[in-house]
Amino acid sequence: MHEIYLDNSATTMVLPEAAEVSCKVMTEAYGNPSSMHNMGIAAEKYIRNARAFFAKNLKVSEKELFFTSCGTESDNMAIIGTAYANRRNGHHIITTGIEHPAVLRTMEALEKDGFEVTYLNVDKNGIISLDELKSSIREGTVLVSIMHVNNEIGAVEPISEAGRLIKETNPKALFHVDAVQGYLKLPLYPKRMNIDLLSVSGHKIHAPKGIGLLYVSEKVKINPIIYGGGQQSGLRSGTENVPSIAAMAKAAELLSQNYDTDVINLYGLKKHFIEESISSIADVYINGVPALNNAEGSGLTLKELPDMASAPLDELVKGYGAPHIISLSVKGVRAEVLLHALEEKGIYVSSGSACSTHKKTSSDTLNAIGIDKALLDSTIRISMSNFTTDEEISFTLDTLRTLIPQLRKFSRK
Ligand code: PLP
Repeated sequence: MHEIYLDNSATTMVLPEAAEVSCKVMTEAYGNPSSMHNMGIAAEKYIRNARAFFAKNLKVSEKELFFTSCGTESDNMAIIGTAYANRRNGHHIITTGIEHPAVLRTMEALEKDGFEVTYLNVDKNGIISLDELKSSIREGTVLVSIMHVNNEIGAVEPISEAGRLIKETNPKALFHVDAVQGYLKLPLYPKRMNIDLLSVSGHKIHAPKGIGLLYVSEKVKINPIIYGGGQQSGLRSGTENVPSIAAMAKAAELLSQNYDTDVINLYGLKKHFIEESISSIADVYINGVPALNNAEGSGLTLKELPDMASAPLDELVKGYGAPHIISLSVKGVRAEVLLHALEEKGIYVSSGSACSTHKKTSSDTLNAIGIDKALLDSTIRISMSNFTTDEEISFTLDTLRTLIPQLRKFSRK
């Protein structure tokens, strides 16, 4: 059976070239990067090269980059590290109600220690209001944390505009962006976008699990959350995971080579899926796609975006949200049932968000966009990678067309 992997927002396949370099480091350049002999220097060179790549890619300086163990650690380090280091300036933090648990649970921990957190609302497409952001910023606001791309519905937040507004309203307030789902999918330039801290995770970009990256602007006052041998300028102690650092840089380098065409291809696949699913299957809904819902963010409709290649990227973002995530609600079918029925046909998707399955309550994001209660447990996430093909999307659509009526009959009995 041909397997179709459409759960790339949960994790991605490691690129063979990335696996290869990681294997090479493990077996050949296995010295401790802090050691002063040749083996240490060889390992350290991989870190230096990786840092140089990310610095160039993000247009930041090498000393502003820190390797962590995952996106969750990057988020924790950014939020906890800056909240305590800047406590003298105030104890107010702003975030959104649709962040990943790596941010939301961290905020809750800070609330227990006296910080006050404002959770911004989102509209029915999952987008924050810049007016609400502006009116929430005050004298004692030390940090604003807003995700780039929502992991459940693919909503893309107005990061550039938010960054400008934060700095105009309170220049002392720091801006953290969780870019775990958006990095290498959509443009991100921390300096130009007034971003002070930016979190990235390796396993969402075809690198291994257990490696992350945090950008910290050199202007930021931040405390470590891990203490030890003083590696990485003392901000993130612990022997660096050199094989995975090298692999993450290799994967990112390969992904950035065809970036322009890959993003357009992904939008083409998303459009194909949306158009066919809503036109050929009764009672299915797509979440987080403004072009379907309204003309608030953009006057564009699906019909007005026929030629992907000629539409400017920001129009595609306004119309479709993120290029790679599709949130599909199927009336009358439980997400878990649909997920397993698809699995039997070799198609892998997730129900809601794989990263919040440890939590038994329903999705923060779907609740926040005001989804119909009947659809809360009937929503699956289809997430593509640059390697997803049109044939795979067509096969998935055919399978859904067959399965959904069958499952509906079954669930009514
Ligand atoms: N932030 C977002 C938006 C995510 O989607 C995820 C994982 O899905 C994380 C953070 C956590 O990343 P990691 O799995 O590397 O800890």
